[in-house]
Amino acid sequence: MNAAHGAAGEFDLIARIRARAPLRDDVLLGIGDDAALLRPPPAKLLAVATDTLNAGVHFPADTRPADIGWKALAVNLSDLAAMGAQPAWCTLSLSLPQADAAWLDGFLDGFLALAAQHRVALVGGDTTRGPLSVCVTAHGWVTPAAALRRDAARVGDDVWVTGTLGDAAAALAQWRAGGACDPALRARLDRPQPRVAAGLALAGLAHAAIDLSDGLLADLGHVCAASGVGAQIALAALPASPALQAAFAAPARAALQASGGDDYELCFTAAPAHREAIARLARQTGIAMTRIGRIDADPGVRALDAAGEAWRPAAAGYVHFAG
Ligand code: ADP
Ligand code: MG
Repeated sequence: MNAAHGAAGEFDLIARIRARAPLRDDVLLGIGDDAALLRPPPAKLLAVATDTLNAGVHFPADTRPADIGWKALAVNLSDLAAMGAQPAWCTLSLSLPQADAAWLDGFLDGFLALAAQHRVALVGGDTTRGPLSVCVTAHGWVTPAAALRRDAARVGDDVWVTGTLGDAAAALAQWRAGGACDPALRARLDRPQPRVAAGLALAGLAHAAIDLSDGLLADLGHVCAASGVGAQIALAALPASPALQAAFAAPARAALQASGGDDYELCFTAAPAHREAIARLARQTGIAMTRIGRIDADPGVRALDAAGEAWRPAAAGYVHFAG
């Protein structure tokens, strides 16, 4: 804590959080002391991910508190999923303009609903006064040899994505245009489903993985750069939801799918020998897995349109501090 916020308000809010925070057997000491005491399983690696959401930057200012809560945890669980890690615990740093108990209760509704789905315990955090900002750190574990790293793609691998692409970016485009937002698209923006089950199933099978937060081309570019390889993807192969197909025609749709952010799907690479096994995983987990391209030795990511021509995006992805 620090001197810049009202102590009564702060401790009130922390008490509300503590009363609702889910626990687990491996949490020896949760909210209330100077640090949490946690017992990771033996012979596993601890996986730790942190992401911050700022009002106006990461979510529209009119986003409901419950959706902010859901998304703040979802983006972190998505990072753990992209490592092939099993989520276990999280911490929550809240910066709030005022000690607003009703806002906090709504926020916790969304945050704790997702935490319950994945049995994640909230074990600590920080509460201060300031512009609306939410920082979550999520902890999980992974079998050492099975972790899905960005630097492990190999020439000849297939490139795959889970789910469908472009829905969240489409919702943002509709919101920015000031028109009606398709509810199915808006739900993908506000309530991303972290692909935890897919990440766990792919651990030890896929070579490299990343979660799609900044747009497919940008994020696949990170995998290629880290792995010292390149990739070619087919725009026509990118999976599109019925809602996206109904709302946007082909050229605009391709841009949303290839460059739009906030998908929180997994992009992974795997040897062609595993195509059948991956199709089986998709059936078992109920999460679509679509083959969209190939890893090659030519640096960079090349997107080809339906005619096989090189496609040039207007922007490769969302970059903070750009321009
Ligand atoms: P300290 O000054 O020792 O950091 P704080 O007063 O900041 O303690 O917090 C008291 C306890 O409440 C700590 O266990 C801390 O982890 C927890 N806590 C504070 N804010 C949050 C929050 N937003 N979510 C979960 N736990 C929190
Ligand atoms: Mg503190």
